[in-house]
Amino acid sequence: MTYDLSEQDRACLNHFTERMQERSEHFIGYPSATDIDYSELYPLLRYRLNNIGDPMVGSTSQINSRMFEREVLSFFAQLFQAPAQNWWGYVTNGGSEGNLYSLYLSRELYPDGIVYYSEATHYSVQKNIQLLNLRSIVIRQQENGEIDYDDLQQMLMQHRDKPAIIIANIGTTMTEAIDDIPQIKGILKQLAIKSHYIHADAALAGMYAALLGTGKPFDFAAGADSIAISGHKFLGVPIPCGVVLVKKNYKERIGKAIPYIGTVDTTITGSRNGHSPIFLWYALRKLGKEGMRQRALASLELADYTLQQLQALGIHAWLNEGAITVVFEAPSEKLRMQWQLATDGEWSHIICMPGVTKAQIDAFIDDLRNDLQTPGIHTTPLLHAN
Ligand SMILES: *Cc1c(COP(=O)(O)O)cnc(C)c1O
Repeated sequence: MTYDLSEQDRACLNHFTERMQERSEHFIGYPSATDIDYSELYPLLRYRLNNIGDPMVGSTSQINSRMFEREVLSFFAQLFQAPAQNWWGYVTNGGSEGNLYSLYLSRELYPDGIVYYSEATHYSVQKNIQLLNLRSIVIRQQENGEIDYDDLQQMLMQHRDKPAIIIANIGTTMTEAIDDIPQIKGILKQLAIKSHYIHADAALAGMYAALLGTGKPFDFAAGADSIAISGHKFLGVPIPCGVVLVKKNYKERIGKAIPYIGTVDTTITGSRNGHSPIFLWYALRKLGKEGMRQRALASLELADYTLQQLQALGIHAWLNEGAITVVFEAPSEKLRMQWQLATDGEWSHIICMPGVTKAQIDAFIDDLRNDLQTPGIHTTPLLHAN
């Protein structure tokens, strides 16, 4: 007996594929790079690769890509200056899982700690805090999306007797603002809070910020205790994924040997995607550090170009230093849908990830110009996200 799709189902699938193609051409508002061709890896999809358990420990189940996973982890450990013999990590399902794992770890270290995070922090952090039943305090953000250090200092001062767990944003979701870890460390020192843990949520900008190395330092050498990134953003892996790295001595508090899988259960999920580590490895190998850096530079240039084009139209637009996210007055709902522009309150953004072209920016600017000339259309009330 062989099975096949019905004509109708096949038509449905084809229609979906065409729509994804068209929608990909108007994708400038979310951070997914589209310039890396991964098709060489497609034949591997026939294998049910599962990296269940700890990436550093073998397993009885051998249909896995742990070997690639370890190489990917080493690359990022080096990029983020992790302490040579004292790091551990794994390939996650995305930045959110990396944040969850790191908060879990921080709670094991400091069960009575308080988590401090700015109001510009990604929504996964608040959810994870709830899941872990942690105590937390939300800190004000500055206008550019960066944490307000004065507010942080005050809140820390009021709770000096409790360990401080701080989430530093390395590129906020909306404006790509970077919190200053050295400054945060300075505050902790000044207040003599010795028990502290700093997690860098570097999901968005961590990789290119580290490659460019020109902005505020945020890596292990700068004081981070754990770092999470997303693999489907700057690296454009077609499967959502990410990397989390932590100091190994912390991690040794978590994880149980499980006879059934013949390995150690040190990660959040059980079964883990075994394809994503190969996609990550492939991108790193294919482009190399220098290729990656060049892509980052091209993104910066395009962001600058986009900013100028928007400003030339008389639109209020701005850009954080070293960012590829251009923030501007939200346009009409029609344009926001057509170009898939994430919007929060009065602001929308374009993220110049590799794969976004000048031609796309020009086409968007043309649409925006037309829109502005159509009376009434851009006065649609905006939904406030909070
Ligand atoms: C995208 C993002 C996340 C979440 O990452 P996922 O890979 O979507 O789970 C977390 N924090 C920031 C700052 C992000 O931009």
